[in-house]
Amino acid sequence: MMEPIVQYKDIHKSFGDTHVLKGINLDIRPSEKIAIIGPSGSGKTTIIRLLMTLEEPTDGDIIVDGTNLWKMEAGGDGKMKKANEKHLSKVRNEIGMVFQHFNLFPHKTILDNCVTPLVQVRKMSKKDAVELSRQMLDRVGLNDKYEAYPSHLSGGQKQRVAMARALVMKPKIMLFDEVTSALDPELVGEVLEVIRDLADNEDMAMVLVTHEMDFALEVADRVLFLDGGVIAESGTADEVINTSDNPRLQDFLRRFR
Ligand code: ADP
Repeated sequence: MMEPIVQYKDIHKSFGDTHVLKGINLDIRPSEKIAIIGPSGSGKTTIIRLLMTLEEPTDGDIIVDGTNLWKMEAGGDGKMKKANEKHLSKVRNEIGMVFQHFNLFPHKTILDNCVTPLVQVRKMSKKDAVELSRQMLDRVGLNDKYEAYPSHLSGGQKQRVAMARALVMKPKIMLFDEVTSALDPELVGEVLEVIRDLADNEDMAMVLVTHEMDFALEVADRVLFLDGGVIAESGTADEVINTSDNPRLQDFLRRFR
């Protein structure tokens, strides 16, 4: 089996007195598609925010491509010290994220929403950035919207821009945090369709927090059921969603199917 691209090692996360994650161990392998399901408040978003370095673990290690996110070698002596911003941003470059709320730049065109990070963060030439951004906007079906502003788009279109903006960075792993839950029901399909296409045709690993069980069954190689701060069930989508006899999981699934 291929080496994991991400490893969570006994990760704990508390917010004040609330112990949200109680020892998460998780390997994500290159090109693996993982769905995380579980009740509201079980810590699904926290798991992926930790990987995006938007939260710092209370305890445990997260290793991305062999590099510890929050600790780095102090010197030649093998000792570790707290990571600095430069160290974090290097690791962050490998990870793309799409949020429930699109987080687009409202005053920039769709094209510039994609071009700006490439030029500013990746130091790409404007010309190359425009070319790559157009390719990715075409990929998500927005080839006629380059010059539109976010406020003129539907929620589904905005979410597709958010995906293009993450894709131009060529991440090794893409995180999707309930990307359809803020959308009107009739717009959910077009967004799932793009994710399905990416899952089928792209090599990158994908982690999806989702309440769309049929979608998880279709695209995920592995499904994790998060409950009570731990991964309570883990297996193929069919094992977890269709055949598990875990009563907490069955109760959860009844509410979402
Ligand atoms: P899920 O995505 O499964 O709904 P979350 O990861 O969003 O769960 O949240 C898990 C728990 O952590 C919830 O009880 C939530 O209120 C709490 N939580 C999340 N982020 C914060 C924060 N920044 N400050 C305080 N509590 C938080």
